[in-house]
Amino acid sequence: MTKITRVWLGVVVALAVSVSGGLFAQAGDPQRAVDDAYQKFRNLKEGKNADYIPALAKVDPNLYGIALVTVDGKVITAGDVKTEVSIQSISKVFTMAQVVQEQGLEAIEKRIGVDATGARFNSIIAVEGVRTVVGTGAPEMNPLVNPGAISATSMVRGSSADEVWNKIIGIHNDFAGRSLSVLQDVYKSEADTNQRNQAIGALMLAYGYIKDNWQQAVDLYTRQCSIGVNAQDLATMAATLAFGGTNPVTKKQVMDPSKVPGVLAVMATAGLYDDSGKWLYHTGLPAKSGVGGGIIAVSRSLQEIIVAILFVAMFGFGPFAGAVTLAFATIGFLSKLLAEDIEDIDPAQAEAIRATGASWLQWLSYGIQPQVMARLIGLSLYRLDINFRESAVLGIVGAGGIGDTLNTAFARYEYDIAAAVLLIIIGIVTVAEYSSGLIRARVQ
Ligand code: GLN
Repeated sequence: MTKITRVWLGVVVALAVSVSGGLFAQAGDPQRAVDDAYQKFRNLKEGKNADYIPALAKVDPNLYGIALVTVDGKVITAGDVKTEVSIQSISKVFTMAQVVQEQGLEAIEKRIGVDATGARFNSIIAVEGVRTVVGTGAPEMNPLVNPGAISATSMVRGSSADEVWNKIIGIHNDFAGRSLSVLQDVYKSEADTNQRNQAIGALMLAYGYIKDNWQQAVDLYTRQCSIGVNAQDLATMAATLAFGGTNPVTKKQVMDPSKVPGVLAVMATAGLYDDSGKWLYHTGLPAKSGVGGGIIAVSRSLQEIIVAILFVAMFGFGPFAGAVTLAFATIGFLSKLLAEDIEDIDPAQAEAIRATGASWLQWLSYGIQPQVMARLIGLSLYRLDINFRESAVLGIVGAGGIGDTLNTAFARYEYDIAAAVLLIIIGIVTVAEYSSGLIRARVQ
């Protein structure tokens, strides 16, 4: 192969990778999902500011923003994602991360425990409830409820309070990908009023969870809760967990990938305290809330290409694996998006048709179908468009289509043919993208 051919091939491969990467990212249209979620909850006025920490009562309750950071480092936002609020209990996740990074997952399990307490975040009854097992080698607390969290803070190693603090703020900075600072008014306000947490700290020392200096642990815990973050910081922190411990924006590895599942596990069991079950029932996502107003959730979805690899392993190379992958993805996609539409059907319209004495079929075609038809056509076209692009790419892992020809060409060292096939893939994808864009614009 000549040098020129090799350079040319390199450029084509780079192009193909970036085009397909971009198209994959586009496949689920995350911006639209974030905008939809934003609109859906925009007018929700439930709940109220936490006021047991006086500074929190003063925070503007209308602050509202959603940020999504993907594992390929894209930042998608809606609303106010720049105003800082105090991180509060969400910090428990990252201080725990520091402890497991430093001392291993077993350290938390042995000293604090990883069970759900089923109690409120600052419950003292929960401490008493598990008291009998303290010292028997099987603690049943959790690093995401106050008693366990204050104990976890006490476990961060350091010969002075400053050294411990630098590690705590350091790991928060690394997860967020920027230098964070403490909101001093919140810190002062909580430090003046945190007698309950002090009592918990003293109890945890008495029961052996904290080894010494519970006052320092409570103070540092209060400081970590007062770190200022905005929605984008929180999303980046969550995305770092989703990306196996590497910050997808800065690309810095913050924790070992093997230690991340332990953190996600306690988020699932106790991230929302006594409501963790309810939250998990509805969302299926490990999450963590904070009384400062923030909440994070971590989702690790399977890309189609991974699903295709699994199906290739099950059914062997060829178009069948590709077809099953696309069918699988299409059913999931359409049922999820149409389910929302079905929920929004106006029963009055359907009732009006029924009241005319219409048959079941007429009721369906005049009362129901017109309400979901536009969306059904729109979504089907949109999915067809995604499938078209993906079928070009799925072949690369052996799931049929033109990608198989590409594989064979590579296997036979026929780089000129491979380059031509890559060009054809880019061509097909670009034409499909352009034409379905035109059709969609017309339908809308
Ligand atoms: N700093 C708060 C406290 O300990 C955190 C509570 C929370 O966010 N749930 O009271």
